Amino acid sequence: MGKKILVWFRNDLRLHDNEMLVEAVSKADEILPVYIFDPRQFQKTQYHTYKTGVVRTKLLIESVSSLQQSFRQMGGNLLVLQGCPEDILPELVVEYGIAEVYHHREVASEETAISIKVEDALWKQKVNLKHFIGHTLYNKEDLPFPIKDIPDVFTQFKKKTERDAVVKPCFPTPAAINFVGFEDSGAIPEIGDLLQDSAVAILKVQSEFKGGEQEALLHLHDYLHASEGMVLANATLKKHEVISKLSAWLALGCLSPREVYWKMKDAEANYGVRPYFHQIVLGLLWRDYYRFMFKKYGNTFFKPQGFKKDGEPLVLENTSALQHWKNGQTGQPLVDACMQELNTTGYINQVARQLVATYLVKELEVNWVLGAAYFEEQLIDYAPASNWGNWATVAGVGNDQKLVNSFDFEKLAKILDPKGAFAQVVRA
Ligand SMILES: Cc1cc2nc3c(=O)[nH]c(=O)nc-3n(C[C@H](O)[C@H](O)[C@H](O)COP(=O)(O)OP(=O)(O)OC[C@H]3O[C@@H](n4cnc5c(N)ncnc54)[C@H](O)[C@@H]3O)c2cc1C
Repeated sequence: MGKKILVWFRNDLRLHDNEMLVEAVSKADEILPVYIFDPRQFQKTQYHTYKTGVVRTKLLIESVSSLQQSFRQMGGNLLVLQGCPEDILPELVVEYGIAEVYHHREVASEETAISIKVEDALWKQKVNLKHFIGHTLYNKEDLPFPIKDIPDVFTQFKKKTERDAVVKPCFPTPAAINFVGFEDSGAIPEIGDLLQDSAVAILKVQSEFKGGEQEALLHLHDYLHASEGMVLANATLKKHEVISKLSAWLALGCLSPREVYWKMKDAEANYGVRPYFHQIVLGLLWRDYYRFMFKKYGNTFFKPQGFKKDGEPLVLENTSALQHWKNGQTGQPLVDACMQELNTTGYINQVARQLVATYLVKELEVNWVLGAAYFEEQLIDYAPASNWGNWATVAGVGNDQKLVNSFDFEKLAKILDPKGAFAQVVRA
């Protein structure tokens, strides 16, 4: 009997630049691709929010479905199941005679705790869980410092990383795959199968985003070659106006950061070096930075006092001010417009996020973790390190001391909405 490797997909829902898949295809005679919808991912949190809201749930379902479609086009399939991976994967190992299980390593505590449970369960069967790293632009091994010595100040991290580390080329998409055969690929769930009725009912999805690798690659292509191929390259955009809207696909792994990076380099070769291309790469560096900071500091980013040692005891009440903020009913038109946008689409840009976060923390004096938990539910691009890291920074309890107290509501409002037009359009 040939060697069978189970490839456990999580936030890596793509065929391109996927080392785990490439290695499985080269080492196994047959592979079994699996995705598991874990009910814990859709539960309520201690802050009375959902871990995943309806807009992101929709995107996730579409992304898994798209991956399944891609495997079907290659003559195979994706096995889609619901339950706890630590229960399901050992059963699949027995059922299909699996020799090894591959997955991508996560960084936040809940996700890594699940990997540990899976690893323990598989270990009892003498089956190895092999970890891959595929979420960042730079591999941690390629950084010019060990994780414990990564500078806390972003500008130092950026300077040294850009100077001393290289971005690896992308792994090629497998041209052909031998699949383990199975009769029933399982059913892709509906939103209502995953979320409680209340979560589905209270939200109206108006998202422009569609999940899946093909959509992500198309969006990246269109973004780079927007209107007749040259608009972006020729435009005179200000920094904050460079908005690629790639974040949701990056978060689910439908798009690899290296793919974005190398496409930016191609664009520079075609159109010349432009600040707009650099701005996207800078975003990817921020993304790496927060992920590596999570690796360095673990759960400190989830604590209400963050990195502050001498903070007041914090009150974590679900106040009416918080509820008004969530509903986009604070009476501050720009904040309300942004929150309503967030609630219906799952996306607002970086400045809008900084603005509503600053307003919650500084004007309404609500603890930042309650805002971060609400973003976790709502954001289409939620990623633990990016969300909790940015929130801690805006709230002034992050680890980069240079950024403490650097957010000013009035300044952000002027950047976002110099003529007050945005608020009027959204409210109309
Ligand atoms: C309070 C708050 C919460 C946030 N939560 C998240 C989150 O959960 N997930 C998320 O991906 N981003 C988060 N961000 C960062 C940033 O706002 C979004 O990544 C960005 O707005 C996404 O839009 P874009 O794809 O057009 O970004 P672009 O400006 O086009 O940047 C390209 C990519 O770089 C990455 N990126 C850019 N800026 C940052 C940043 N500051 N931190 C981390 N990654 C960055 C994103 O993956 C983004 O898609 C948060 C920011 C704030 C202030």
